[in-house]
Amino acid sequence: MTRALLQLKCISKNFAQHPDVASRIVNAAARLLGAPYSGPTSVKAVDSVDLHIQSGEVLGLVGESGCGKSTLGRLAAGLHTPTQGQRFWKGQAINPQADASTPIDKARQLAIQMIFQDPYASLNPRMRVRGIVGQAPVAHGLVAKRDQSDYVEVLLSKVGLPSGLLERFAHQFSGGQRARLGIARALAVKPELLVCDESVAALDVSIQAQVLNLFMKLRQDMGLTYLFISHDLSVVKHISDRVMIMYLGSVVEVAPTAALFEQQFHPYSVALLSAAPALDRGRRVFMPVKGEIPSPLHPPTGCHFHPRCPRAIERCTHEAPVLRPISPGRMAACHLNP
Ligand code: SF4
Repeated sequence: MTRALLQLKCISKNFAQHPDVASRIVNAAARLLGAPYSGPTSVKAVDSVDLHIQSGEVLGLVGESGCGKSTLGRLAAGLHTPTQGQRFWKGQAINPQADASTPIDKARQLAIQMIFQDPYASLNPRMRVRGIVGQAPVAHGLVAKRDQSDYVEVLLSKVGLPSGLLERFAHQFSGGQRARLGIARALAVKPELLVCDESVAALDVSIQAQVLNLFMKLRQDMGLTYLFISHDLSVVKHISDRVMIMYLGSVVEVAPTAALFEQQFHPYSVALLSAAPALDRGRRVFMPVKGEIPSPLHPPTGCHFHPRCPRAIERCTHEAPVLRPISPGRMAACHLNP
């Protein structure tokens, strides 16, 4: 395998959850009485995940809401500091404390950009398009101030927006146009990898298709690499080369996209695929995954999926399965696999 553009090795992220007001009162009373009391609890949002993305690849990251996929995306983009594990960019370890004070750190930080779900919330409402898209490249010395307007116009045309919009504000655009504006802003600092977190989830289906086609065109034209995070398998199927499925902070299956849709080696992947609406099955089949995703504060013992798994055996209740190779390019974490 060639050297990965981005690699995460055994990466974890824990968040401390501090007691609410009621718990603090109970704790204070317990302390006065000399009884045991509870301190902050820790939530494992991402648990020892390995991930690699080759240059030019689109890796889809799928899972239900709350499975840790957005946290993993933020770890990949460097927006969260990992609790444990290491990030590598083109084979070089990234110092999590790097503050872009060296040219290498700065170039690497700009090379990974994130596109968020809600383009309206992530665009400054008081800035005009010229500033939204053109401020960062000028601030980072990628473009001279005098060339800012021309540079922004070129980017707007790249993402399919008409010219002459430099003085507009974000609220003067439609949802699809704002999504394109968010993409233009990310492209402005010449990234190599885009982490797209539910970037089309807020759009109508017809606009979704247009924005997905834009992502694919940009990939071709600019040689971009994507980590594409979505809860929607049909979106991921459309755009990804490989798919990684997460459940409660862990990866349960990784496979090339076509192979995954052909056959799944983890019961959760089977459940996710059967929960997705599918027009090509002759009729619309929609079977939601049974039960609710458990709280990451108190994950089930053994295989985290066992309370919802239709194929669970006794071993699953106390022994966590490890992610093992199934065939070249495929891995799954289930005791039932040979
Ligand atoms: Fe289901 Fe057991 Fe496999 Fe987990 S390890 S997915 S509970 S069969």
